Amino acid sequence: MHIDFLVPAVLLAPFVGSFLGVLIVRVPEGRDVVFSRSACLHCGHRLGAGDLLPLVSWIWLRGACRICSGSIGSFYPAIELAAVAVVLWAAIATPSGPVLWASCIYGWMLLTVAIIDKRHFLLPDVLTLPMILIGLAVAAITAVDTAIDHALGAAGGFLSFTLIAWAYQRWRGRDGLGKGDAKLLAGIGAWVSWTELPSVVFLAALLGLAIALSSAVRGRRISATDRLPFGTFLAIAGWLIWLYGPIFPNVGP
Ligand SMILES: [Zn+2]
Repeated sequence: MHIDFLVPAVLLAPFVGSFLGVLIVRVPEGRDVVFSRSACLHCGHRLGAGDLLPLVSWIWLRGACRICSGSIGSFYPAIELAAVAVVLWAAIATPSGPVLWASCIYGWMLLTVAIIDKRHFLLPDVLTLPMILIGLAVAAITAVDTAIDHALGAAGGFLSFTLIAWAYQRWRGRDGLGKGDAKLLAGIGAWVSWTELPSVVFLAALLGLAIALSSAVRGRRISATDRLPFGTFLAIAGWLIWLYGPIFPNVGP
């Protein structure tokens, strides 16, 4: 195991998760994420540094506000645990050291957009565009020879979904894929390169189909206009293909 990676990463992850929780709550509302401090929803008590120590303070205070004892809820500790899970999953699935931190950054970004899309059917540019830039930077540093494939992945991801969305709009007269989906696929393409994009889209569609079928089996009527958070499925697929490689290994050079 990668002990020299795991110790700092597991210690850092709850703090990252705490920030991801702030992003998930505030970005869809268009609120400032950096400069305004978190406050208790019940009494408005501004949380100090001691209240923001992730996981530890939540367990210590049994999930309640220090001032009014109102419930803080389990959302933040759940995101903090998920951020730790990303670290452990990356360490288990990734054989070599240098890309582990990159895997964490990618996983944390995917986690954030997956939850926001599930809650709001929204993929904010402030999250998807950095995913493109950081993915291209990581490719340029760690895989110089194939950096062009990652650039093609970003361009191909964006263009393919934009084209499909345009064709669907003309055919059915309403939106199928969102513009955010195209930017998210561009971000994923920057990380996994164009050769693995077909696998990502295929797996995401499969996940979406499985969810739709399972809700149909449970007796819910589904129609063609029902919305599924496709970005959530893309994010899950983008993570699995990054860690375990493509479903279609024969695509590409
Ligand atoms: Zn309070």
